[in-house]
Amino acid sequence: MFISLLERYNQLKSDYESYQKLAEETIQKQNKEIRELDKKLDMLSSIIEISQYINKCLGSDEIISKINDIMIGILGVNYSSVYLLENRKLKLKCTNLYNTDHHFKIREYNEHKLSKLTPCLANSVDNMCMGSDIQVHSSLFMPIYLKEELLGAILVEHNIYNYLNQGSIKLLSALSNQIAICIENNRLYNKIKENSQRDFLTNLFNRNYFFSAIQEKIKNCGRGFAIIMVDIDNFKNCNDTFGHQCGDMVLKRVSSIIKDNLRKEDMVARYGGEEIIIYMYDIKEMLDVYNRMSSIRKSIEREPVEYNGKLCFVTVSIGISISDNKDENIENVENVIRKADMNLYKAKNSGKNKVVY
Ligand code: GH3
Ligand code: MG
Ligand code: MG
Repeated sequence: MFISLLERYNQLKSDYESYQKLAEETIQKQNKEIRELDKKLDMLSSIIEISQYINKCLGSDEIISKINDIMIGILGVNYSSVYLLENRKLKLKCTNLYNTDHHFKIREYNEHKLSKLTPCLANSVDNMCMGSDIQVHSSLFMPIYLKEELLGAILVEHNIYNYLNQGSIKLLSALSNQIAICIENNRLYNKIKENSQRDFLTNLFNRNYFFSAIQEKIKNCGRGFAIIMVDIDNFKNCNDTFGHQCGDMVLKRVSSIIKDNLRKEDMVARYGGEEIIIYMYDIKEMLDVYNRMSSIRKSIEREPVEYNGKLCFVTVSIGISISDNKDENIENVENVIRKADMNLYKAKNSGKNKVVY
């Protein structure tokens, strides 16, 4: 009787212990799964965060530096550097390192190496940044691909050995996909924006953009400016004699001569058919504008367009008006334009191929 009770007790004890073990194992397994899920959730939140953040600065020049900040924030690394592919080389676009000499290999990657870039994790007890006071013991290089196309790469670094690991590869790889989409969206956005500001034939600014942009420029400059109207002489004859295609070539040639002879901050736009409008900033002397326009007029007169083995010479008439910019209102700008138009009219009526102010 006593023995059977003891046996029963031992049996129950053993059953209890194995159930307890099973329960502990299950709890441990579930805890591990929860930790894994937590990590994935963190990763997803990071990806959502980066998408939202990046969308906010679509079209901004600062997008790469924002990406760099995000890398530092999300991965908790000491250093992050973003490289973009330009002229078949990886060019450093943003970094929070004051010295990137130890990245020299990345900048020297040749086309063969660039055609097969893969993620590269490195951990070293020795400082990977020899000869510098920057300490790098853990680094992860991640190429940025859009489908198969290489756009650039990110290099993140930390001063703690083994800080970056297989988990970091997963996270940075997911982030790099988001970054690729962001870089491409930004490029397309800027291209569409740029196209909407330009005339497709001459690639000069279009009239709408010109007027909105000069309002800003005039407001910010605070100094004198000039408005110049240029019109090709007898352009109808040019079209009638040589054909419309040749006329288009003449328009392009005249536009590029004008553009090449102005400063970067000046603005040139196609005003109408064969009329071009120019805004020149920071103008004090009418004579400076006159001399520059005379030189442009002479260049156009000298440089013919060759079409079907024939030379097509054209001339232009130019009207100038300047303002001291003391009166910044829109009416003033309109008056300045009107005056330039009147001077162009005078140039036309007094024999063409002239600059009038
Ligand atoms: P003026 O010296 O008085 O300015 O005479 P013009 O012949 O240049 O002026 P007019 O206004 O009589 O004719 C302008 C011509 O410009 C007519 C039009 O067909 C042509 N034109 C306008 N836009 C374009 C274009 O994009 N390409 C070409 N090929 N011709 C154009
Ligand atoms: Mg004309
Ligand atoms: Mg005209």
